[in-house]
Amino acid sequence: MNSLTLKRGREKSLKRRHPWIFSGAVEKASAKAGDTVEVRDAAGAPLALAAYSPKSQIRARVWTFDVRDVVDEKFFRLKLEKAISLRNNLPASKHTNAVRLVHGESDGLPGLVVDRYADVLVAQFLAAGVERWREEILDALAELTGCEAVFERSDAEVRKLEGLQPRTGFARGNRSASRCPIVEHGLDFRVDVERGQKTGFFLDQRENRQRVRALAAGREVLDGFSYTGGFAIAALAGGAKRVHAVESSAEAIQIARENLAANPLDAAKVEFVQADVFKHLRLLRDQGARYDLIVLDPPKLAPTAGHARNAARAYKDVNLLAFKLLTPGGLLATFSCSGGVSAELFQSIVAGAALDAGAEAKIIERFGAAADHPVALEFPEGDYLKGLLVLKG
Ligand code: SAH
Repeated sequence: MNSLTLKRGREKSLKRRHPWIFSGAVEKASAKAGDTVEVRDAAGAPLALAAYSPKSQIRARVWTFDVRDVVDEKFFRLKLEKAISLRNNLPASKHTNAVRLVHGESDGLPGLVVDRYADVLVAQFLAAGVERWREEILDALAELTGCEAVFERSDAEVRKLEGLQPRTGFARGNRSASRCPIVEHGLDFRVDVERGQKTGFFLDQRENRQRVRALAAGREVLDGFSYTGGFAIAALAGGAKRVHAVESSAEAIQIARENLAANPLDAAKVEFVQADVFKHLRLLRDQGARYDLIVLDPPKLAPTAGHARNAARAYKDVNLLAFKLLTPGGLLATFSCSGGVSAELFQSIVAGAALDAGAEAKIIERFGAAADHPVALEFPEGDYLKGLLVLKG
């Protein structure tokens, strides 16, 4: 069997069951991209079976810590079965037909993301290991879910780090998938799985949109970074007086308008503005605009800790503007999906923003990703989404 031997003393993270082996920890390896390797400590003792990825800084990702396991078609079928049954047992499955079925490392399938939008699956193969087992995984997914159509969105930047070319298109089945209809807590949305951002919809925010809906009655709402209108439409459904939604992508706003029209709501109360949130909030501030509920859900500003400094400046800037735009008694639901910004750092950035805005503010709730985005305890990197609900005094 192919093997990978660690440098002396570099087995510690594996002993804690962390699934990544970085290039600096590897003494020697003999394998090709995607091969299963037996990982051994410097003394030769076997520790795990992993997928080898010679081009990546994450040189291997662990399939299993039981070295007696066999990594074959059946192995992937079992992992997928387990991941899917976890979702079937979640309360969310009663409120939506759009769920994350596979969440990479936290489901024991490093580099694989699968979202289900009604009867269409969207899959991302983001590491050399899952790329190698792509056909077996696609067959098992189609069979276990009964979905005939599987669209591949292996066009995320991280594939480059693995030395893999981007790939998009139907891997199984074929149909038009630029407007997949889904239902989330009784609201209708259309998902563009072919060209939308990520896999087409931000499922991780599902329960937070529902929370905003419950808080919106009678409020003037500002939805910053509104994408296809998730928070804006939830707020309107919750009885918002008016909603001002700001988004830079024209394609996203087009779908947001269609989403709004798909629901029995008073569309005249929502205004979608195509603009840069950072600039537009300054304009609103200069105009003396005021809101009672502001949502800020920016894109990933710091993919890694190395980007944290610049990202911190941007988070502070936009949160500071939000505090200025909030009425006393107003609520700010502010998010960060940056892996490079910890929950602690994010809270201190928001605190700094409130301070500089001269606002007295309190955290009254904390948000995370929905339960179909589980975080394996040994893989804290999976815990990327954090949010605060802040009340301005
Ligand atoms: N809240 C949304 C998801 C937001 S994703 C939901 O629930 O569906 C972040 C969005 O910010 C993307 O749609 C992206 O196009 C947009 N965006 C990125 N930079 C921006 C900027 N500077 N100004 C406005 N929108 C921006």
